[in-house]
Amino acid sequence: MSLMNWFEDKRRFGGLIGAFIEKATKGYILSERERDKYIKIDTTKGLWTRCDSCENMLYVRFLKQNKRICEECGYHLQMSSIERIELLIDHGTWQPMYEDMVARDVLKFSDEDSYKNRIIFYQKRTGLTDAIQTGIGKLNKNLVALGVMDFQFMGGSMGSVVGEKITRLIEYAFKESLPLIIVCSSGGARMQEGTLSLMQMAKITSLLQFYQVRKKLFYIAILTYPTTGGVTASFGMLGDIIIAEPKAYIAFAGKRVIEQTLRQKIPDGFQVAESLFYSGLLDLIVPRTFLKGVLGEIFELYGLGSYKESNNYLF
Ligand SMILES: [Zn+2]
Repeated sequence: MSLMNWFEDKRRFGGLIGAFIEKATKGYILSERERDKYIKIDTTKGLWTRCDSCENMLYVRFLKQNKRICEECGYHLQMSSIERIELLIDHGTWQPMYEDMVARDVLKFSDEDSYKNRIIFYQKRTGLTDAIQTGIGKLNKNLVALGVMDFQFMGGSMGSVVGEKITRLIEYAFKESLPLIIVCSSGGARMQEGTLSLMQMAKITSLLQFYQVRKKLFYIAILTYPTTGGVTASFGMLGDIIIAEPKAYIAFAGKRVIEQTLRQKIPDGFQVAESLFYSGLLDLIVPRTFLKGVLGEIFELYGLGSYKESNNYLF
């Protein structure tokens, strides 16, 4: 089977990519082949990547067009914070906040490498200053305050910068009476900062109490693969509405830790979004393709969409 036919088969059975992309794809493959007859297959970078679930080889360009959803099995692969902002926020309306905030190595922490060096390494690799981007922008014309965690930066771990940026975002949303959305993707608290990272949980949680209960404002938590540890144990589970992506791994402690503590076998899929949904821990499981539309409908349902026009935002 030629490479061209292989792609055709992929398109036909994939089902998730629209016809308009198929047209664009054909042209792209031709020009790609003209430029380079020998397309190298690389599992980690370059033109190809491998699905984390079904292990099929995926063409990176198609994968990006398909919002990083595997066309074979529908698995939602990890997205960078920049891609998520592009996915959710109307083009040209994003205004980032506190971009220059950088973590300080207060504990002078060092294991295999120093914390300071690690931060510099990840800053160079991701182009971010820390594991979250915050700002305001319009989602289907509704102004929202948005925080998006980035797993590429030290496993999305929550240190003092992540905590402070979320806190200031909530404060801003509180002051301006804006709805708040936080997209979670994290391995938990950042161990290199010790107690300073753990205290972020209490800081954010107490402010959310003011935001949600005192001022009766609206917070949506979006949990993606993976949301674990201190993030699950604080703002991840405090949304007025909690949305998860299909098959997202959401947990506090890992399976092995629970098994060792309880001395019991934990069933497979125990900490996957679908299982948590049936246990009543989540409100919705929404595929990435529909996420922006669903958020828009939620805003309409709660009367948030008309707020900025009518200035009549009262529950
Ligand atoms: Zn797959």
